[in-house]
Amino acid sequence: MSWEANVRKVTPYTAGEQPKGQGVIKLNTNESPYPPAPGVKRVLHEYDADLLRRYPDAGTEPLRSELAAYYDVEKERVFVGVGSDDVLAMAFLTFFNHPSLPILFPDITYSFYDVWAELFRIPYQVQALDDHFRIKEEDYLKPNGGVIIPNPNAPTGELAPAAMFERILRANPDAVVIVDEAYIDFGGESCLRLTDRYENLLVVRTFSKSRALAGLRIGYAFGSPKLISCLQDAKYSFNSYTMNSVTLSAGVEAVRDDAYFREITDKVVATRERSKKELAALGFSFTDSKSNFIFSSHEKYSAKELFEALREHNIYVRHWDKPRIDNYLRISIGTDEEMDALFAFLREYITARGN
Ligand code: PMP
Repeated sequence: MSWEANVRKVTPYTAGEQPKGQGVIKLNTNESPYPPAPGVKRVLHEYDADLLRRYPDAGTEPLRSELAAYYDVEKERVFVGVGSDDVLAMAFLTFFNHPSLPILFPDITYSFYDVWAELFRIPYQVQALDDHFRIKEEDYLKPNGGVIIPNPNAPTGELAPAAMFERILRANPDAVVIVDEAYIDFGGESCLRLTDRYENLLVVRTFSKSRALAGLRIGYAFGSPKLISCLQDAKYSFNSYTMNSVTLSAGVEAVRDDAYFREITDKVVATRERSKKELAALGFSFTDSKSNFIFSSHEKYSAKELFEALREHNIYVRHWDKPRIDNYLRISIGTDEEMDALFAFLREYITARGN
């Protein structure tokens, strides 16, 4: 028998392109267009490399305590991991273990969820968004082995009210409900405070978008002490030291500089709202995004062709060849200058086609 018969075969998640070189306008992976807080730069510059002979703190200090203080929760309610992808993978492994019932998530959502479900052999059932790409609450009230929903959703940017999650939590006392708040800092109402009342709620966040640190890889989560302790146990059964000490120190500085955090998130939100007006004027339609991207479509021009034309001009956005969303582009919010270059290109593209 071939050794291959016993190999775990998976179809991996495909991340957005990371083009190199000068002159690229990168609006395809929802990164921040602004640099991280100045304190992060200082820590990285001054870090004493001699300290690296020691293992990092397995309890992810000092970052865990810094997050607990900033968000005004007890330390026992905070988990830190290597990007929210790591936190989410660990959460799938820990919480989605029902012997028969499937976990539930939307049909249009973060395309890593079905990859983890396949990897960990978790049965899942996708729930179709409505025609306006909104979550249908009733789909999550039936018996299930767990629920995961991003809020705002990705790639749609649609925000659901925290009250909807509360109703889903109330209907699911026997399952863990995960709210993936990767984009919540761009204007949404968080479910963080619900973790005080619902022991089965995990709220997952990231430093990759609003804190401009995708390259450092920091994700975190809030939940009841019991839930977080289960997550820690799974993590320590996997690898005790996933967070390195440099990252733990630099991450602290990103949290401490609240004024800078507010400044860059406010700028992204202002550019997003202006971009909605510009896109509407060009004939695009889009969801009312509360994230750092806009999910947009034009009834006259194929998204795929637009995607390719933009790419040829070094403007990278995201397009998926998937049912229901193949005529949409997900455009991450860049600086005002980057967005102006995008609008100028689109204006020219449309004019050249006689509209
Ligand atoms: N959740 C959602 C909804 C995302 O879009 C992303 C970004 N790809 C992540 C989680 C993971 O982000 P990171 O691992 O950089 O924290």
